[in-house]
Amino acid sequence: MGFSQLKIPKICEHCGKPFEAKTVITRFCSDACVDKASKARKKKEQEEERKQRILQESAVAIADIQTRPYISITEATILFGISKNTIRRLIKAGKIPAINLGERLTRVSRTHIESMFTTVALPEEKPQEQQPVKLRYEPSECYTINEISEKFGVSLSTVSGTIRRNSIPKRQVGKFVYVPKEQIDKIFVRK
Ligand SMILES: [Zn+2]
Repeated sequence: MGFSQLKIPKICEHCGKPFEAKTVITRFCSDACVDKASKARKKKEQEEERKQRILQESAVAIADIQTRPYISITEATILFGISKNTIRRLIKAGKIPAINLGERLTRVSRTHIESMFTTVALPEEKPQEQQPVKLRYEPSECYTINEISEKFGVSLSTVSGTIRRNSIPKRQVGKFVYVPKEQIDKIFVRK
């Protein structure tokens, strides 16, 4: 048979030795290598499955921890990424409410630790909120509509229209509308 005469030089995918293959799809030098390669592949698949299972279990465990108001110290380290020593120190300092149900059975308040994380984040936001543009609304720095009308010799409706068109900030005090002199001067002096 011509079939038996076919000899293709190849490298065994399992042991790495050169051999002469009888078909183009042969990948291994011997039955032993076929067997070992198949076992190795199965082992790899099982290892992958095991990893996936562990990942899934830890996701379920974390979801479970997040539903309970009181959690163990170990669970707190998983959830918040802080060490057991840090947690114990905070409990001793009275910063985290804890219940001791027996040896190795300390439970800490999850919601309290969570609120500690939010409290830490706040000081960074505050300085930004205190920065809004300071508007010159002091009465000495403002005109009333009537004052503008008299000073620049324009009608009340022109003044109102100009304020509206230029989106000039205004403040109503009683029946008077105050607008910043600075912005009004810029507009009417140009005219
Ligand atoms: Zn081989």
